[in-house]
Amino acid sequence: MRPPKAPESWDQRFLTVAMHVASWSKDRSTKVGAIAVRDRRILATGYNGLPAGVLDSDERLDNRDLKLAMTIHAEQNCVSYAARNGVCLAASTFYIWPVMTCSQCAGLLIQVDAARVIVPDFVEPLRWQESFDQARQMFSEAGVSVARIPMRGPIEPATDESEGEHEAPLPFGQ
Ligand SMILES: [Zn+2]
Repeated sequence: MRPPKAPESWDQRFLTVAMHVASWSKDRSTKVGAIAVRDRRILATGYNGLPAGVLDSDERLDNRDLKLAMTIHAEQNCVSYAARNGVCLAASTFYIWPVMTCSQCAGLLIQVDAARVIVPDFVEPLRWQESFDQARQMFSEAGVSVARIPMRGPIEPATDESEGEHEAPLPFGQ
């Protein structure tokens, strides 16, 4: 398989990595990836899903309320990985794919002293608009910069041709 061409912008490069991490989520409707970066090095990664060891059966994943109650978000997974391994995330940049951080995760990223949050400039799902707006307000007050960057241009996302049921990370379903 021909490797995908890397974008020239570092922000786009790391968003592309976050996109790839998102594809590992078993959630069928919403696949989110988060990576924490400092000095152009990846410190931690995470995607949304049930905590390690918690049974992610089809029955649970198909029950939206139960799934949401048990799921940890990509950002939460990324931060908890760092905590578990003693990695400091202060002054790091979080790249989140494909959507803005929710207000709960915004509080978490503020508390680990993140410096920046970078997301692609896709249209945001209406369902989460209020939470995203709250997150932006929280980041603004706490001095965390947020940027939505274009993901057009010379980007060829890696595709997994071996998986017939591959789903694109967008749009948000259900
Ligand atoms: Zn969240």
